[in-house]
Amino acid sequence: MAKVSIRQIEKSFGALKVIEGVSIDIEDGQFVVLVGPSGCGKSTLLRMIAGLEEVSAGDVVIDDKVINDLHPKDRDIAMVFQNYALYPHMNVRENMGFSLRLNGVHTSERNAKIEQAAGVLNLEALLERYPRELSGGQRQRVAMGRAIVRDPKVFLFDEPLSNLDAKLRVAMRAEIKALHRRLKTTTVYVTHDQIEAMTMADVIVVMNAGRVEQIGRPLELYDRPDNLFVAGFIGSPA
Ligand code: ADP
Ligand code: MG
Repeated sequence: MAKVSIRQIEKSFGALKVIEGVSIDIEDGQFVVLVGPSGCGKSTLLRMIAGLEEVSAGDVVIDDKVINDLHPKDRDIAMVFQNYALYPHMNVRENMGFSLRLNGVHTSERNAKIEQAAGVLNLEALLERYPRELSGGQRQRVAMGRAIVRDPKVFLFDEPLSNLDAKLRVAMRAEIKALHRRLKTTTVYVTHDQIEAMTMADVIVVMNAGRVEQIGRPLELYDRPDNLFVAGFIGSPA
């Protein structure tokens, strides 16, 4: 488990400033949803937490330690993407164990971790299957399995459900929340879908054009939006 803070983060790509003075404090075990329109900087922020993108200014802090210069591999953070791209030539077990294998984890320990994660995600019966033999929802669960086997301090999700159909999306929301209740891993979940944010978040961070508009519990934002942007965004249907 871990506390995550980002403090006065800025990010520019050349002359283009895409994140301006963003600060967020995330408590141990919290499920925080970053929501905002396409292009507002959600993925960039997540990638800076993961270390896949350098910050232009400000600090990424985990458990009171500034980790700006820490290599992504050493951050103990696992990220699940929208295009989760499983390795097509590897079965589910191999896909889930790949990062462990790269880190030199022994076969027996690897299998124990894979099987434990498979149990959590209802994938036990599918371990020897190949990605092409799985449904969209099953593939997404394997992608989560790849993150879980590493037992990270922090989970980052970047629009993990946006490639799924509406019905499956609703089911997967519930699965991800159930997973969080069970593992209690600190999570930052990105979506542009207001309904997803309202139903999943402990705390919602509403972003717009590289800035934070408001941070609060779902009902707080709904009942007491700070401005018209938040009111319009949270109040309108997905
Ligand atoms: P979101 O995830 O909210 O849709 P992004 O974080 O992907 O937004 O992008 C925020 C802004 O930063 C956009 O204007 C995007 O075009 C720009 N951007 C993202 N990555 C790069 C990059 N590598 N080079 C230049 N501009 C980028
Ligand atoms: Mg994005």
